[in-house]
Amino acid sequence: MPGDFKVTPWEVTGDIDYDLLMKQFGTLPIDQDLLDRLSGYGDLHPMLRRGIFYTHRDLKWILDEYDKGNRFTIYTGRGPSGNTHLGHLMPWIFNKWMQDTFGCDMLFQMTDDEKFLFKDLSLEETGKMAYENALDFVALGFDPKRTKIIVDTKNVGRMYPIALEVAKRTTFSTAKAVFGFDNSTNIGSIFYTTMQSVPAFLPTVDAGRQVPVIIPCGIDQDPHFRVTRDAAPHLGYPKPSLIFCKMFPGLNGGDKMSSSDENATIYTTDSAKAVKKKVGRAFTGGRVSVEEQRQLGGNPEVCAVFKYNFYLFEHDDSKLNELADKCRKGEILCGECKMCLTQKINVFLEEHQDRREKAKDIVGDMTYDGFEW
Ligand code: SF4
Repeated sequence: MPGDFKVTPWEVTGDIDYDLLMKQFGTLPIDQDLLDRLSGYGDLHPMLRRGIFYTHRDLKWILDEYDKGNRFTIYTGRGPSGNTHLGHLMPWIFNKWMQDTFGCDMLFQMTDDEKFLFKDLSLEETGKMAYENALDFVALGFDPKRTKIIVDTKNVGRMYPIALEVAKRTTFSTAKAVFGFDNSTNIGSIFYTTMQSVPAFLPTVDAGRQVPVIIPCGIDQDPHFRVTRDAAPHLGYPKPSLIFCKMFPGLNGGDKMSSSDENATIYTTDSAKAVKKKVGRAFTGGRVSVEEQRQLGGNPEVCAVFKYNFYLFEHDDSKLNELADKCRKGEILCGECKMCLTQKINVFLEEHQDRREKAKDIVGDMTYDGFEW
């Protein structure tokens, strides 16, 4: 049924209508004027050109600040509940482009407290995953001098006074309305959103002046930052700007890659053999027989293999269009297409796994306030 989907920080289900979601959340489209303006700072990232990062809050304002010489800080993060998969990497890759393009500081928040509160995991487990996930983040090549990693339970001393300020401005009624909490929700979960607000304000506290912050992240995180933005002016902080992406699809044809379906999820630590097997089982827009596909063509719009090329693995627009064209005309078959994608993913993962190993040498120098892992 149209509009029958759910997008919250903890649950994404159904076929997401992204235009409708933008209206429901009250965010603005990244229109051609904004794309033209962004292209003035450097080559547009394919995720912008292709509408993967497609909606925002106060993006124009933060670019105005940048043009005035008031450089912003970038803030993004991860809830460490399991191994990193390609869906987690996608917005981080965009964050890296932001840092390279604008030469900005970066804060990366590991919400180990959140995953402890919302999932059946111990703090030891979420802490261990925070380290493992941080290796993937560092492996993407963020500037080690300009990038700091926050782990909530490690940096809590610095964060707690700011979280308290936000907590005092946020009622239970707001938390219930935004997140759907009820009487059975543990009280840590109700407080948690204040911790997610902190990195939006920390640069201002650290610098002793108003530092703009932009948060590139999945659209599912918007509810948290509505709370952050509501509190900001009351506390004397600039409202963070946001730029949102769509969810990275699963190999099973679903709208979001999810660790709950391991066979449809590619992890950064997967072997080449595992990738081949998973891509081999992917949902495609192919026909039931070779003859039919040659005659009638396939449907790239619904095909997970095509979507993987679109989202991450084919940056060249003309090659992507050529693939779609060949698919529709029946000039390429799904087996060949899957083999090509498997090869692209494995080349990427081989390099990433190598950089991930090297990240172990520098991840200790990138911790906020110099905490020890
Ligand atoms: Fe998808 Fe490729 Fe098959 Fe077309 S040929 S449906 S793009 S796997």
